[in-house]
Amino acid sequence: MSDAVSAQVLKIALPSPLRRLFDYLPSRQTPPGGWQPGLRVRVPFGRRDVVGVIVELADHSDLPRSQLRSVHETLDDGPLPADWFWLCQFTARYYQHSLGDTLHLAMPARLRQGHPMAGRTQTLWLSSGAPDDERLSRAPKQAELHALLRQHPHGLPGRAVNAHGFSRDQLLALEKKGLAHAQDITLTAPTPPGGSLLASPALPLNREQATALAALHEKLDGYHPCLLEGVTGSGKTEIYLQLIEAVAAKGKQSLVLVPEIGLTPQTLARFKSRFRVPVLALHSGLTDPERLDVWEAAASGRALIIIGTRSAIFTPLANPGAIIVDEEHDGSYKQQDGLRYHARDLAVARAHHHKIPLLMGSATPSLESLQQALTGTYRHLRLTQRPSRHPPAKLELVDMRHQRRQGGLLPAALTAIKNTLAAGKQVLIFINRRGFAPTLACHACGWIAECGQCDSRMTLHRQPPLLACHHCDSRRGLPDACPECGSGDLRALGSGTERTEETLQSLFPKTTVQRIDRDSTRRKDSFEQMLKEIQRGEPCLLVGTQMLVKGHHLPHVTLVVVVNADGGLYAADFRALEHSAQLLEQVAGRAGRAAHPGRVLVQTLHPDDPHLGQLAEHGYGALARNLLEERRLAQLPPFCFMALLRIESPKEDAALALAQQAAQALRQWLTHSNTPARCLGPAPAPMERRQNRYHMQVMLAADKRSQLHAAASWLVQWLEANRDARRVRWSIDIDPQSL
Ligand code: ADP
Ligand code: ZN
Ligand code: ZN
Repeated sequence: MSDAVSAQVLKIALPSPLRRLFDYLPSRQTPPGGWQPGLRVRVPFGRRDVVGVIVELADHSDLPRSQLRSVHETLDDGPLPADWFWLCQFTARYYQHSLGDTLHLAMPARLRQGHPMAGRTQTLWLSSGAPDDERLSRAPKQAELHALLRQHPHGLPGRAVNAHGFSRDQLLALEKKGLAHAQDITLTAPTPPGGSLLASPALPLNREQATALAALHEKLDGYHPCLLEGVTGSGKTEIYLQLIEAVAAKGKQSLVLVPEIGLTPQTLARFKSRFRVPVLALHSGLTDPERLDVWEAAASGRALIIIGTRSAIFTPLANPGAIIVDEEHDGSYKQQDGLRYHARDLAVARAHHHKIPLLMGSATPSLESLQQALTGTYRHLRLTQRPSRHPPAKLELVDMRHQRRQGGLLPAALTAIKNTLAAGKQVLIFINRRGFAPTLACHACGWIAECGQCDSRMTLHRQPPLLACHHCDSRRGLPDACPECGSGDLRALGSGTERTEETLQSLFPKTTVQRIDRDSTRRKDSFEQMLKEIQRGEPCLLVGTQMLVKGHHLPHVTLVVVVNADGGLYAADFRALEHSAQLLEQVAGRAGRAAHPGRVLVQTLHPDDPHLGQLAEHGYGALARNLLEERRLAQLPPFCFMALLRIESPKEDAALALAQQAAQALRQWLTHSNTPARCLGPAPAPMERRQNRYHMQVMLAADKRSQLHAAASWLVQWLEANRDARRVRWSIDIDPQSL
């Protein structure tokens, strides 16, 4: 690089919330490739040493030379992957976040901590000899290890062998017997080609699937954003698999994003069993070194298929071929604190940058993506049929008014449950509230158990017995009597999963009732165990929160009961209706996925609500198109763009004062700069007090993205220069998903 010689000042991004670069002098030792952007360095920062990344080379600093400190050392021979570096810079700019923080968040922990990247070679262990070698019959652990190696014909790194619970000594013992051998491979080598890519054959596609796939094949070498709108169980995953196949056949990489609760061993097994090349998964169970391995395998182009949740969008790709976003509407793609990025939106930016296809799939597309598809910005692909030929079940609304409920369930629901069990099938009871009851109240004086730190009620739990706040996680013991009037007549109002479970168990004593929520699955693997048990098909009752209904294949469930559908109907947040309709449709999609048709009963206090009626009668697709029309009339996203300034402080007046100042300054600037954006507020956040901190917000809305960004960027600079802003916590949320 030509500037390498003349470079005197290095502009470096450091892990700091400040949106600026820091000036340093080069160290005496020039790195092999010269000084260049993207190099990871260790520098002194205050009294600490931190890891930073060179962003620019300059021949000038505003600081006198005597005040500049020198870089301690460079950590790698060359710069970090260029596509990754580009994505981080884009992300920091788009979300108005510090670049240094963004880089740190987007790199694997090992690199953040200053560890070197692993070398360019790796030792893999492979099996040799026969599976039935008789020496193994006397060494059961070694036999197990031998079987493990045989399952991995491409070999396993030593670390992975350890992770499976085997020791190095056991490996060496096998090697001594000639039943295992080690092989060094060069990590930059492409995945060994030769032979078929597929380990199991692709399914013959139905007509709709074939049309969708053909559309994708038309443009594999350019930016091609597609929305695959397909009812639950219509075979979207099969399309993903066949797109990946086409991309891998060209030697290119596919990055697959799935929702947080979507990356199950079930899903992974489906991808792994299709391909002969390895499918690398980024999941929470990985150790830091394993995570780095995946990162490097992707950065070198060795890994052709990478699958992961939100943060996997920051996987570098040497040879990108396609990005797939499954359940693109899912809320878990949006990070809700710190760097508030949306992985699906970054996928769009990335696919555009790399000039590759982007496939976003959903049975219930977000209104943002649907609008782009309806106007032709995205290609609209549709699957309306299920291969099993049972159409998704219609929602049957059941009127809850003036009816007795047991554990939240109406007589009609209980009858249907009884009949389904009698037919030998399973029932799923969906209730989006964990605990026993959402409210504990005194019948004598009306006292209600509230959280001392939040504007919210405490949830009553019975297993174990306590009161818990689901917003701040504070807990206390159950009172014996009302703290206000001393009455002993304390009552649990409403139903949560525990109460419904208890009621059902007493009504159906001979049937297994399985409760599945965050409390009952806290132990590692317990959720997987429960799913396995359920999939065996014995008649049983499943009481679960959204954790159970999202994405899981429950072939024996033929009846779904939604205990209360009203949560999102009249909420303050304009997205609440969209989100609750998506959830209801996903819940309904669990019924009758396999050989038997299903039924979905939806309990509601608002059976005449037009939105709910439309969802029940015509499905999510029809409702979504209607909601888009309402958003257009109200000038809400996707017909405008929003940003939210969030301010929080333990002192209510401090949060309010800064919010008022900021809103006023912003309004003045909008007027003076003639920027056609709107500033709304300040207003308290929907739950103003959380964990004893007060939350205020100021909303910014504009018809064009460029206007929104100009205003948000000005606001951030104003806040960084404002003294009062240092006394509170503030953050800016571009494209907020919830208010
Ligand atoms: P989605 O991802 O849309 O929810 P899946 O891809 O999980 O749907 O498909 C639902 C079921 O239908 C799966 O069991 C899958 O194996 C099966 N399936 C998908 N496509 C076909 C096909 N073309 N022929 C036969 N079965 C199919
Ligand atoms: Zn009382
Ligand atoms: Zn609380």
